[in-house]
Amino acid sequence: MTFLHRPKSVKELLKTHHDLPDAMVLAGGAGLMKTLHKRAEPPHDVIDLSGVEELKGIQVGRFGTWLGAMSTLHALSDDPLMRKNHPCLTQACSYGPPQVRARASIGGIVAGHRYEVLPALMVMGARVEFRGLEVPKRRDRVQELLTQQAARGELILAVHLPPPALGEQLLFRRIQGGSGDVVIAGRLLVRDGQVKEAALVVGTPDQPGLHLALVEAGLVGQPISARPIARMEQAYLDLDPEGTVSSYARAASARVLRSWLEQLS
Ligand SMILES: Cc1cc2nc3c(=O)[nH]c(=O)nc-3n(C[C@H](O)[C@H](O)[C@H](O)COP(=O)(O)OP(=O)(O)OC[C@H]3O[C@@H](n4cnc5c(N)ncnc54)[C@H](O)[C@@H]3O)c2cc1C
Repeated sequence: MTFLHRPKSVKELLKTHHDLPDAMVLAGGAGLMKTLHKRAEPPHDVIDLSGVEELKGIQVGRFGTWLGAMSTLHALSDDPLMRKNHPCLTQACSYGPPQVRARASIGGIVAGHRYEVLPALMVMGARVEFRGLEVPKRRDRVQELLTQQAARGELILAVHLPPPALGEQLLFRRIQGGSGDVVIAGRLLVRDGQVKEAALVVGTPDQPGLHLALVEAGLVGQPISARPIARMEQAYLDLDPEGTVSSYARAASARVLRSWLEQLS
């Protein structure tokens, strides 16, 4: 028998999660089948986040944007201020069947390391807010999540995005490939004709967020040019020595980034 718990506030949610550390957390339920398949037997307890109003909503402000963990892909891509301030993320959230987009939450996407959206969050410097009843609140960069496990008792409460910066150039592309789509996100901060900051991230089903650090380093401090793309193969070798990213995805990402940089230059 499975018991369903529906807390109504964050306080009640954290207490319930603390008291039932083995309970399954249910957000939009779009990834539910995958989660259930991983379990040998049905969960004894399920904590449903849908009744917690404090986890819903989008607040766009001068100092950045707050996305409640239960904001759906549909709500994110449909919000006019989000589209204006964070086009990279709204494009990432625009794909997928409508029934999935209406349910899948940003908290579930981050918790599930979904390659469709993580690259956009990474180039934007998004931070994820974790909280637990007896764990201090923390805000981690998305890339840190890829190498760290959440502490026991912690839940994702929100995602914070920095405000858009003057001189920012953004890229988002999703390309269909044989063994899964390839997602390419880029952000350059250009001032006085020079690249001040560069973030280039590629996502595939096996590698949800690869920061192409070698190529980024070749761009910073220089006028925009596509020359650092010559380092793409080496960048992949450094990041993905096992070769989990297909040659198709490597070639497609190099082509997209080269064409973007050539256009900008
Ligand atoms: C047919 C199909 C197509 C899809 N297409 C796309 C697509 O195009 N783009 C895309 O981005 N995604 C896509 N997805 C994936 C979907 O976005 C993910 O499954 C996502 O994780 C679902 O979010 P959810 O809110 O429904 O989470 P759930 O299914 O409710 O939960 C997923 C996991 O995240 C954990 N979790 C959820 N919220 C929290 C939280 N706040 N704190 C801690 N842990 C939490 C849950 O415990 C569970 O382990 C697709 C899925 C399906 C089935």
